[in-house]
Amino acid sequence: MWSLTMATYDYDLFVIGGGSGGVRAGRLAGAMGKRVGLAEEYRMGGTCVIRGCVPKKLYVYASQFGESFDDAAGYGWSVGTSTFDWRTLVDAKEKEITRLEGLYRKGLEGSKVEIFASRAELVDAHTIELKSTGQRVTAERILIATGGRVNRNTSMPGHEYCISSDEAFDLAELPKSIVIAGGGYIAVEFANIFHGLGVETTLVYRGKEILSRFDHDLRVLLSEAMTAKGIRIVTEAVFNAVRKEGDRLAVELSNGETLTVDQAMLAIGRLPNSEGVGLDKAGVALSKGDHGAVIVDEYSRTSQPHIYAVGDVTDRVQLTPVAIHEAMCFLETVYKDNPTRPDHDLIPTVVFSQPEIGTVGMSEDEAIKTYPEIEIYRAHFRPMKNTLSGRADKMLMKLVVDGKSRKVLGAHILGPDAGEMAQLIGIALKAGASKDDFDRTMAVHPSAAEEFVTMYNPTYRVVNGERI
Ligand SMILES: Cc1cc2nc3c(=O)[nH]c(=O)nc-3n(C[C@H](O)[C@H](O)[C@H](O)COP(=O)(O)OP(=O)(O)OC[C@H]3O[C@@H](n4cnc5c(N)ncnc54)[C@H](O)[C@@H]3O)c2cc1C
Repeated sequence: MWSLTMATYDYDLFVIGGGSGGVRAGRLAGAMGKRVGLAEEYRMGGTCVIRGCVPKKLYVYASQFGESFDDAAGYGWSVGTSTFDWRTLVDAKEKEITRLEGLYRKGLEGSKVEIFASRAELVDAHTIELKSTGQRVTAERILIATGGRVNRNTSMPGHEYCISSDEAFDLAELPKSIVIAGGGYIAVEFANIFHGLGVETTLVYRGKEILSRFDHDLRVLLSEAMTAKGIRIVTEAVFNAVRKEGDRLAVELSNGETLTVDQAMLAIGRLPNSEGVGLDKAGVALSKGDHGAVIVDEYSRTSQPHIYAVGDVTDRVQLTPVAIHEAMCFLETVYKDNPTRPDHDLIPTVVFSQPEIGTVGMSEDEAIKTYPEIEIYRAHFRPMKNTLSGRADKMLMKLVVDGKSRKVLGAHILGPDAGEMAQLIGIALKAGASKDDFDRTMAVHPSAAEEFVTMYNPTYRVVNGERI
């Protein structure tokens, strides 16, 4: 079998896309002794490293210093006049992502993966064309890991004047004002980043409340906290058109209002990167509609049995750890004779808003639809750090529990370090912890997280949809 493969194909595995999923799969397959080729058309590391999670979190840190300087006064510090330099941040970010990009490349090279700095397109089910040179190579197996791209709302007049998260990190200068369309985590995070850096910020969302898939309490309280900080949130409205007005932009909203701003940003979702990859020529089926995600089975196999797809291009859950997990399962299934399905249940998630959101498991509304009787444990309080500083931000800790089995179905946090807590509480939920397990866990004192093990009585119950 080995010699047949050697004779027939140039590679055992060819990976298209050097992002979170592709790099992990390529590197580990190479380390297993497979002959691996990987094509990346832009920068190694993909969305997460170059224009997603990593630069985003660095900018979140940058945007938090203003509040920290203010808070320090309550603790006896006098902080002099502070100024912020956008260029310094952009340059420092660039240096860091370049370092990470180098590490990703080194990891692949260390596993003897042959890297092609080129766009790759399938010509048939086993042949890949490298667009930069026209070279064609063949592979026994192919992994599509081309990720996603910004939805640029091309049907909207003036969409070309809008930036997206791709451009936001590298703007030539920090705008004085910005309006952001969207209510998902990327829109919310950027609204907080720009506001924290001193930009007059408006968020425009088509729904009634931002962050549609999150627990209702989190959505309402975050919205209130952002508004209290000075971010304007306009709901039930969308961008109708954007016009250039000298150096500025006039953004017409569907509610009749026109906003004149320095920058307008679209953060209304991401689409699978499945166009122009030659998937039709290889006989790989895509989902219908404008999304065109690669259809995969529970083992990430496409309609072509030797072609697999992982990550955002499959439109399952668009997160880096999910893409990496799918890549690991692909390796188990294909190269370790251990068929493994990716597990998408109970994924802990963070929104790097200010205050931050951390969440895992079912929201209260979801649980009500699924379980006849649920208990809600809820603590809404001022975190200790905010006492001396005088900051008004409050924290929310909430547990959703099945009233019959006592199993904890969901945990939701709004406040400092919410993401860190969600990661750890995710382990408890994955292990099937019950409320009694939480109750018999000793508290860490003084901490905010101790609320999770000291909320002994339910705040309320919901029986057959009715709150009692
Ligand atoms: C602003 C922003 C913030 C985010 N924040 C977070 C976060 O905090 N936490 C989190 O978990 N996730 C976050 N994400 C999501 C995360 O970045 C993605 O889920 C993850 O990168 C998906 O990995 P992937 O391997 O599927 O694709 P990607 O990382 O997108 O990689 C795909 C790669 O394929 C390349 N490519 C595409 N087509 C071709 C082709 N034909 N030939 C060659 N190369 C090609 C692309 O250039 C790209 O480098 C964020 C995303 C954005 C946009």
